[in-house]
Amino acid sequence: MTTEPAAAAARATVYGYPRQGPDRELKKAVEGYWKGRVTADALRATAAGLRRSSWKRLADAGVHEVPTGDFSYYDHVLDTSVMVGAVPQRHRAAAGSDPLDGYFAMARGTQDVAPLEMTKWFDTNYHYLVPELGPDTVFTTDSTKQVTELTEALALGHTARPVLVGPVTYLLLAKPAPGVAAGFEPLTLLDRLLPVYAEVLADLRAAGAEWVQLDEPALVQDRTPGELDATARAYRELGGLTDRPRLLVASYFDRLGEALPVLANAPVEGLAMDFTGAAAANLHALASVGGIPGKRLVAGVVNGRNIWINDYEKSLATLGTLLGLADRVDVSASCSLLHVPVDAAAERDIDPQILRWLAFATQKTAEIVTLARALTRGTAAITAELAVNRADLASRANSPITRDPAVRARAAAVTGSDGRRSLPYEERAAAQRARLGLPLLPTTTIGSFPQTTELRTARADLRRGRIGTAGYEERIRAEIGEVIAFQERTGIDVLVHGEPERNDMVQYFAEQLTGYLATRHGWVQSYGTRYVRPPVLAGDISRPGPMTVRWTSYAQSLTDRPVKGMLTGPVTMLAWSFVRDDQPLGVTARQVALALRDEVDDLEAGGTSVIQVDEPALRETLPLRAEDRSAYLKWATESFRLTTCGVRAETQIHTHMCYAEFGDIVQAIIDLDADVISLEAARSHMQVARELASHGYPREAGPGVYDIHSPRVPDADEVAALLRLGLEAIPAARLWVNPDCGLKTRGWPETRTSLENLVAAARTVRGEL
Ligand code: GLN
Ligand code: ZN
Repeated sequence: MTTEPAAAAARATVYGYPRQGPDRELKKAVEGYWKGRVTADALRATAAGLRRSSWKRLADAGVHEVPTGDFSYYDHVLDTSVMVGAVPQRHRAAAGSDPLDGYFAMARGTQDVAPLEMTKWFDTNYHYLVPELGPDTVFTTDSTKQVTELTEALALGHTARPVLVGPVTYLLLAKPAPGVAAGFEPLTLLDRLLPVYAEVLADLRAAGAEWVQLDEPALVQDRTPGELDATARAYRELGGLTDRPRLLVASYFDRLGEALPVLANAPVEGLAMDFTGAAAANLHALASVGGIPGKRLVAGVVNGRNIWINDYEKSLATLGTLLGLADRVDVSASCSLLHVPVDAAAERDIDPQILRWLAFATQKTAEIVTLARALTRGTAAITAELAVNRADLASRANSPITRDPAVRARAAAVTGSDGRRSLPYEERAAAQRARLGLPLLPTTTIGSFPQTTELRTARADLRRGRIGTAGYEERIRAEIGEVIAFQERTGIDVLVHGEPERNDMVQYFAEQLTGYLATRHGWVQSYGTRYVRPPVLAGDISRPGPMTVRWTSYAQSLTDRPVKGMLTGPVTMLAWSFVRDDQPLGVTARQVALALRDEVDDLEAGGTSVIQVDEPALRETLPLRAEDRSAYLKWATESFRLTTCGVRAETQIHTHMCYAEFGDIVQAIIDLDADVISLEAARSHMQVARELASHGYPREAGPGVYDIHSPRVPDADEVAALLRLGLEAIPAARLWVNPDCGLKTRGWPETRTSLENLVAAARTVRGEL
């Protein structure tokens, strides 16, 4: 395949770059500032240095147009709130005179005021701070940050393009401020917000911006006709301004659908679109609206949120088609590179052959530059790169790591009955009741107990060789002993071992499964200064041996009460990892499910009578477009059932979910066929219990009665009141008593009292039955 040279030189660009620096310098500086060890000036200097070196890396690699304004001390949506003056009153007061302190008060709260709420940025694992708006919100313009960063980049000689969160997305991501009626729609503030954007655009123009990028990822979700009208109006107005840079409206994470004609017809000079994954549908959609003649198209052909090398031939074919559909075509990643780690070359422990399959931000930048070169000068200009790319793709496709015949044969042999329990729920429930002999309103916890400094230190000591495995394991056994003794003393009915041996609920299993890779430096921002290192689902998944049985059995040996086995479910294992892009997610999920199924079966064989399979990510992995959801829920529920349905009727299967509203997936939750589900519910006054009831949920449930997200200790009356609310929705024979989530982030003092109060409340309410 050859691509002829394009008429105009194609530019290589990106929408954003990892903020942390190669060694997470930003995290250290910001946290140092919070602790008073780093001055505001030193923090600013570190930040400016990081921006400078990111731009230099990009420019040195051959990127023609670098982004500015994408940098953030904490979060770019928070930065946008500052830019438009949407600072809640409570934070204005807390801020005092220092703008940095005001900024961090919004992000983290202070002793006296709550922070902004945090939630997921679309279907990524990045979290943004939710703007709080109301009918009284007055927007004011503060373009300082955007102008400063643009000026810095221009002064260094870069061609720079400021990147802003677009006005429509900003409003669609906002929520009614506390005290404002829930029905308030922030999008109704659009006319008030647009003049602020107009001013920012004018300021950026005056500072030397030729182009400005407005990010509108909210347009890849299903939008109402009213929202699409508002979008058209917004861009008619911004496009109609006389004093402005050229506008590039960017979308990513999925296809534009009905929003495409709206943007294609808007008086803006360019569109940036995602052409990877489900967004590949953008290609045909663009052709069917007749392209965007006269406009610039920035083509996101390099996946900006996964870590696999690009397929150059495929991308060049896409780019070749796009050439006829726009005035000029430039090359980019599908979204900001914020969602991938900085540099795969820093990974020293990964097999060099596998390393060739991986592309982090540094490698993706090189790919974008290479593709832009091919677009400008023809495929012949990248002959050598193409040959290497073909060889690397072939090595991945043919590797025994990605094709394990035994794993594939087993997955192919799965039948419907593997995903069905041997008996219907009523009969299982009777067998479990007889075996477990639990009281009404049984008490339990979600799995983890406080991860104390001593435990973390022990793990660090083990890693650094300061203690041996035997010493470490002794430490873990001692912790399990304490956790079991505490639960017995407190009178909890179904115990847990406390998960002291787990660094993380996904990584712990990833490290023990064949086909999974861990990275050493693969940090990705989750929120603020919190970074995670998602493991990589690189190959076919199998389980060399039991992963948790030893610790669960040890815990069980210390008590006569049932100890619940504790596993992370297949959907969550995928959601919090970098997933394979060379096969459907459902295929990977099935492999993980079969490995976990063996663990479930081994736990059962080892005498475990209650097994919990956590799926907190079930809701968050839901596709952005409604029409894609039933296919997702089908493989997601099937993989959960494949994990859990191998056990006997008298073995009780629990599941747990948190972080979510469940309204739209209650049916899927029912379809999991777990015997018991525990859910986050304390803060919403048991709303989820009513939702389950209204869908006719037929099994047992433990809507959380203790909010574990803060050190606050609920008293027994408060827990009892929540339990009585729960009883209005779920009959006593099917109601469990438990916290909202695991206790790993809590300290022992509040955990102890809270659980004592929880048990006391259960006893009180039992007495009322
Ligand atoms: N079992 C896990 C724990 O208790 C569940 C964590 C989660 O739901 N996120 O920590
Ligand atoms: Zn949870």
